[in-house]
Amino acid sequence: MENATRLLQETFGYQGFRPGQEELIRHVLEKKNVLGIMPTGGGKSICYQLPALLLPGVTLVVSPLIALMKDQVDALVDNGIPATFLNSSLSAMENQSRLQDLAQGRYKLLYVAPERLQSGELVRLLSCIQVSLIAVDEAHCISQWGHDFRPSYLALPTLLATFSGEVPVIALTATATPQVAKDIQELLAIPDENLVQTSFQRENLAFSVVKESPDTFLLEYLRMNQSSAGILYCATRKEVEKQYQRLQHAGIKVGRYHGGLSEQERTRNQEDFIYDRIQVMVATNAFGMGIDKSNVRFVIHQQIPGNLESYYQEAGRAGRDGGPSEAILLYSPQDIQIQHYFIQQSEGDLAYKQQEYLKLREMNQYAHTQMCLQRYILRYFGESGSDCGRCSNCLDEGETVEITREAQMVLSCVKRMGERFGKGLVVQVLSGSKNQKVTQWHFETLSTYGLMKDWRQKDLTDLVEYLTASGYLDAGDGQFPALRLTNSGVAVLKGEENVYRKQPKVRQLETDDALFERLRLKRNQLAQAQNLPPYVVFSD
Ligand code: ADP
Ligand code: MG
Ligand code: ZN
Repeated sequence: MENATRLLQETFGYQGFRPGQEELIRHVLEKKNVLGIMPTGGGKSICYQLPALLLPGVTLVVSPLIALMKDQVDALVDNGIPATFLNSSLSAMENQSRLQDLAQGRYKLLYVAPERLQSGELVRLLSCIQVSLIAVDEAHCISQWGHDFRPSYLALPTLLATFSGEVPVIALTATATPQVAKDIQELLAIPDENLVQTSFQRENLAFSVVKESPDTFLLEYLRMNQSSAGILYCATRKEVEKQYQRLQHAGIKVGRYHGGLSEQERTRNQEDFIYDRIQVMVATNAFGMGIDKSNVRFVIHQQIPGNLESYYQEAGRAGRDGGPSEAILLYSPQDIQIQHYFIQQSEGDLAYKQQEYLKLREMNQYAHTQMCLQRYILRYFGESGSDCGRCSNCLDEGETVEITREAQMVLSCVKRMGERFGKGLVVQVLSGSKNQKVTQWHFETLSTYGLMKDWRQKDLTDLVEYLTASGYLDAGDGQFPALRLTNSGVAVLKGEENVYRKQPKVRQLETDDALFERLRLKRNQLAQAQNLPPYVVFSD
């Protein structure tokens, strides 16, 4: 390990190891199979790049990110480390010449796209030369339960078998639920004791959910943060275009990025963002993987993503320099439908879709929970932790009020409707709608019909979501979620349990702008106490 520390300082120019790096590198040097789960920006690359220099022969790096490969290889070569890559962007001739160099042992690192592993020629060549380590980056792609499954990753176990288990494997990912981790371990033969997981906690990230007038909020927020850079994620190209126009109109320095643009324009916009010529990048999730911009101060989701893995990975692009940063979810209920549609249209089988619907449900509940948002995410990844003290829930000073009676109205309506319908119809019945579906099932004859007609539809929906997020209702798991009472829901209905909620009524009176202003002041007091720069630099 002394050699490793020296290399870290001399070749890579870092003072010391970050959490997890040393342990992972030690396992690799002892020729053990390891899985490293570290947050985005945690420094996973070093964990195979450094051993590659200490081991004889070549290290094979499997990565799905073709765009990223070139950057990584360029960076290595600039550092005097012989590295190259093979992927579909190369001409046949270039490909051949690299394979020849490889056969002659000219490289220490070879990056390949997973599809390449199905090429007999490459695999034969690999079995003739000395391969000392196989690094599997973005290892969650091997799991069908992951959010980004790539069938070509399944060629890996076969490849490993050709080396008869003598070449160690290091698998790396930023997003692994316990189930995905188990999958990776099984497929790549990684024992439990060689799992290295550093905390997903990000001390410098403050999470918020904005539900009230998200559009107004966004403009106000961007105006107040003109001196800091951020990303606005949208679910579709169409929405990117829409927001791009809108922000441009509002005089904000904005760029756009999605798969429908020419490669030229994408590259140009990306550079504008990296070199701070624009403030905000409006983008689909095609943007961000492998973009190493450390001073991203905020990541805002204009639309809810499909699962918490994606959300945390995208939100995690803020504050890679360790400075205080914000991750904000703008929530509009209809955006759930978009994700629902994506799942419906996806190619997976029924079991896969069920799983994705469940994940979407957990994502939706994130927007409605009153638990610490950081803790909610960590719990999803199987990690326990204490309240972060920074998120919009932790900082919400709202008074807790009892809402047992209101909860009973909702629960009783669900029950009377036979526990066979989704929240939309439940809300309509409670608010006394004359909608065709309501009359078709004769719900206007129920005693709970119109029972909450004084409520704004939005607040009513919010209440139902809150009861679901708090475990009084279960939203089912299929494509057509039907609300059902859980055991605690039944207890509430029987009067055996009370329901509490942070004052939703008072909160309605306060715009999210005002709420945010309050949060900002408090966060900055915290930041000051920790000697950190403030969250927002006012432009005027
Ligand atoms: P990941 O793949 O986990 O998202 P990277 O390997 O791309 O992260 O590293 C993220 C950033 O952290 C890079 O800019 C890298 O140079 C830097 N980095 C990695 N290890 C260290 C270290 N030990 N000390 C300081 N910076 C590091
Ligand atoms: Mg990486
Ligand atoms: Zn919190």
